[in-house]
Amino acid sequence: MRDYYEILGVNKSASESDIKKAYRKLALKYHPDRNPGDNEAETKFKEAAEAYEVLSSPEKRSRYDRFGHAGVRGNGAAGGAGFQDINDIFNAFSDIFGGGAGGGSIFDEVFGGAGRGRRARRRGRPGGDLRIKLPLSLEEISEGSEKKIKVRKFVACKPCNGSGAEAGKEGYSTCPTCQGMGEVRQVTRSVFGQFVNVQTCSDCQGEGRTINNTCNECKGEGRVKGEETIPITVPAGVLDGNYLTLRGAGNAGVRGGTVGDLRIEIEELPHKYFKREGLDIYYDLFISFPDAALGTEVEVPTLKGRARLDIEAGIQSGKLLRMRTKGLPELNGNGRGDQMVRVNVWTPRDLTEEEKQFFEEYRNSPSFVPKPETEGGRKSFFSKVKDVFT
Ligand SMILES: [Zn+2]
Ligand SMILES: [Zn+2]
Repeated sequence: MRDYYEILGVNKSASESDIKKAYRKLALKYHPDRNPGDNEAETKFKEAAEAYEVLSSPEKRSRYDRFGHAGVRGNGAAGGAGFQDINDIFNAFSDIFGGGAGGGSIFDEVFGGAGRGRRARRRGRPGGDLRIKLPLSLEEISEGSEKKIKVRKFVACKPCNGSGAEAGKEGYSTCPTCQGMGEVRQVTRSVFGQFVNVQTCSDCQGEGRTINNTCNECKGEGRVKGEETIPITVPAGVLDGNYLTLRGAGNAGVRGGTVGDLRIEIEELPHKYFKREGLDIYYDLFISFPDAALGTEVEVPTLKGRARLDIEAGIQSGKLLRMRTKGLPELNGNGRGDQMVRVNVWTPRDLTEEEKQFFEEYRNSPSFVPKPETEGGRKSFFSKVKDVFT
């Protein structure tokens, strides 16, 4: 099987819009309306659609990049079986071919006017989007993570390949009620003139076709309840409430209708030690009165294990120590926030008689008397943050 990038004539680093452009060009060149009866053109047209189907979806593309054709098999693009007939292609890429009636397709533009281009009738019913929540710890947000999530959803019915019609039989007939138009016109004449009322055909629900033999597995729905394990790559630095959208990973459509998207909402789990503020994380450190008075070295947790931190003698409660670049990374950026350590000096409680005596002795000692004008008061308010490098 040919390489998808090769088919579209783009390189591996091509952007989404490059890929779309390349596909438009090929689709135009090999379009059946331009090459009637040319089997080779039709094959190329299908081939390009299959390549585009995979490469236009970030999720499928990354799987293809990692695992090749095997990575996208069974996801609608398996070895040439993805598109049974040309109409599936028009349905799948209605954004390119112009889905609805008269919806400015590129072919309309090129071939001059609506109607000349092939109008893709909406086949089946769209599958609908799925939403799930993905809880992540701050550590996972800090590093980015690879997750495998199991999603219960509608998947295309295998025996009938999502068509709803029994395999091996001539699947569909043109709906006799609407002659395949999908809509029924009713003309009413009155003294005021002629009224035309257009309604969706109730016999085929607007599909323009009826199933000859219903597939037993899915009772003609073309989809069944199932589940899929989907690998997702969460970039580092996501925020609570951010969405990742995987195109085409949602519910399979009814009778070949378009597949919905999967929307994954990031949910940040509360952390045992840290509070997040933007890219910075805050940690409350409690130290004893002697440690504050005499200075010490402590260990603090960080997002990447424990780190040592110097506490200078005479440090005051409320002091903020900054540990540079120990915070969270910027999403899609190079920057990293800091870890802020808020110092809390623990005032001793439940003292023994001996300890009480000890403090009593120093109660009026000049060094024990608070001096807020130089420490922790207005003056030092702006210089409360001290940078530390660990
Ligand atoms: Zn009909
Ligand atoms: Zn079926």
